[in-house]
Amino acid sequence: MRAILSGASLALCLLLALSCATSPGRESAPREPAPQTAPTPDAPVQKSEASPESLRRALAAVRHLHKPMGKPRPGDWLTTSPEAGQTFEEYLQSDPVRPTGARRVLYIQPLGEFTPAQRRIVALATEFMSHFFNLPVKLKLEQALPDIPAEARRIHPQWGDRQILASHITMKLLRPQLAEDAAALIAFTSSDLYPGVELNYVFGQASYRERVGVWSLYRLGQPNADERSFLLMLLRTLKIAAHETGHMFSIKHCTKYECVMSGTNHLKETDRRPLDACPECMAKICWATNTNPRERYAKLARFCADHGLEHERRYFEAAAEALK
Ligand SMILES: [Zn+2]
Ligand SMILES: [Zn+2]
Repeated sequence: MRAILSGASLALCLLLALSCATSPGRESAPREPAPQTAPTPDAPVQKSEASPESLRRALAAVRHLHKPMGKPRPGDWLTTSPEAGQTFEEYLQSDPVRPTGARRVLYIQPLGEFTPAQRRIVALATEFMSHFFNLPVKLKLEQALPDIPAEARRIHPQWGDRQILASHITMKLLRPQLAEDAAALIAFTSSDLYPGVELNYVFGQASYRERVGVWSLYRLGQPNADERSFLLMLLRTLKIAAHETGHMFSIKHCTKYECVMSGTNHLKETDRRPLDACPECMAKICWATNTNPRERYAKLARFCADHGLEHERRYFEAAAEALK
């Protein structure tokens, strides 16, 4: 995210509230006021599937399956963005955004044109997110990109890529479509995105306050090449979907473990990260979404088994087994 136009490295995600969108390089999730979901008077009272006490036991039981964060390699996120991280206990004390009450649905909006393989990846990411966050996820009908005004598009001056200003999509296209019951409205697009004149590109951008975000598939790979390429792009997309949505629920970057919530500066770093959250971040997700962790692991194991993610299937099965 520090890269200026001559640089090549960019952070995987740029979750900026629009009020600080001109200050690239830092994600503002922790400082964003929480758009608390106000329970409607007749909203059902949720039965607790995940008390802090039970989640503390669960995170201890799966700790052995996770790798502590090692020394960052040159160019990695933590070499350029030192962060303190966030334990489960700190998360509980932070009054985080929770997808409860009337706002529980994650909406996914495909935006623009997609190849059949890209379309399949978006559909799989939709299914994955329903298991990862234990929330209803609705895939909306594909929308064509409308005409983008000149001030919200450019051709990259060195590379020649056609790019769209990410905040134009979030605020001009998505924000007016935000449903009352939306925990978030997230667009996937095959177009390349940029966050402002000083940066080369971004993989995604979101506003916590407005509950909208957009993620680009443009730089995530060539899913049509072969099965291996498809699975690589699928994994990258799932990681980004999980990571960015985790931020929407006030989860900070993880520095304690190799974790899907760890910050990444480039795709190689993304590829080294696991698909799942570490024990601390799993506990945050389960607490925020009132989710039984063993059931969550079991559903994710089935998803991975069904879609050829063998390494991830073994991990999720081991995690579910550890909680029996
Ligand atoms: Zn992030
Ligand atoms: Zn973590």
